[in-house]
Amino acid sequence: MKNKILVAGAGGFIGGHLVAELIRKGHTDIRAVDIKPFGDWYQKFPQVENLQLDLQLKDACEKSARGAHTIYNLAADMGGMGFIENNKALCMLSVLINTHLLMAARAAGVQRFFYASSACVYAGDKQTDPNITGLREADAYPAMPEDGYGWEKLFSERMCRHFTEDFKLTTRIARFHNVYGPNGTYDGGREKAPAAVCRKVIEAKLTGNHEIEIWGDGHQTRSFMYIDDCIKGIDLILHSDKVTFPINLGSSEKVSINQLVDIVEDIAGIKLKRRYKLDAPKGVNGRNSENSLIKKTLGWEPDLPLRKGMEKTYAWILAEMTKGK
Ligand code: NAD
Repeated sequence: MKNKILVAGAGGFIGGHLVAELIRKGHTDIRAVDIKPFGDWYQKFPQVENLQLDLQLKDACEKSARGAHTIYNLAADMGGMGFIENNKALCMLSVLINTHLLMAARAAGVQRFFYASSACVYAGDKQTDPNITGLREADAYPAMPEDGYGWEKLFSERMCRHFTEDFKLTTRIARFHNVYGPNGTYDGGREKAPAAVCRKVIEAKLTGNHEIEIWGDGHQTRSFMYIDDCIKGIDLILHSDKVTFPINLGSSEKVSINQLVDIVEDIAGIKLKRRYKLDAPKGVNGRNSENSLIKKTLGWEPDLPLRKGMEKTYAWILAEMTKGK
């Protein structure tokens, strides 16, 4: 009997929340795997089989997939723009994780395999305008994704597709658009904009240096999805028999980075002097999720407005940064 659920990348932000949700739903046979030492996992649950393994290695994938009926692959060497623009080879080496996990899944007779792709697969020439309405699933081709990280995601998407076509392994793929929330990276260089802005505003408050550095001119636009909406979407996509193609999982509430800073300043009750670092990595000019397909096929839409989600995220980062003080 195959009863196990494998969460790869369980020590990370989304993986940790996913394990928490699987436990809440009553699953008792969960294997959580990550390369990080246990002390660095954002969430770790004693009732789960926790393993520290390097999933770039084939035998680690085979060990992880043993007895599993479902695999969620959320493991990747990744981070925000600052990390992916400067670590393209490391990002591309994540191809080993998905490739070996797919091979192990096939050998173990896994029934469903989830792959976490990204809005970074979308072609650069579709994202030049900050007033972008939204990226449709078809906008990934003709392909010109984010260099490094985006190419790896697009290649791995196709690897899933061909494992389905050729080997009958059921795979499901979500293209996440920026996910944010508590229990994720907020410093160290891998953090993404929502967490970075919260940290910078809190630092300004705590130090009394009322300035904030913003990467780019602040006019670049993005959308941000709260973690609980993401976890609900993953479940719907994985268990759907209609969504057999890569699908957007993101918010369509577009904001500029300046507007994101406005929101966090408002939450913190502070106004900061803005310093724009124009040569910093800032990514594409405009990116937003177009959600017609997921609304129509799964009836999914994000529940939490950005302001509410940022309040929760800010509160968690503030608590972390002032712990023991
Ligand atoms: P994260 O960095 O918090 O989690 C990824 C985890 O994978 C980390 O804990 C890391 O240690 C682990 N990992 C890396 N290499 C590994 C290896 N060789 N073996 C085992 N574990 C390894 O990132 P996240 O935000 O939780 O992202 C999860 C997935 O979603 C990733 O595939 C990411 O590319 C994708 N994604 C995330 C976002 C987002 O906004 N967070 C957006 C698009 C796509």
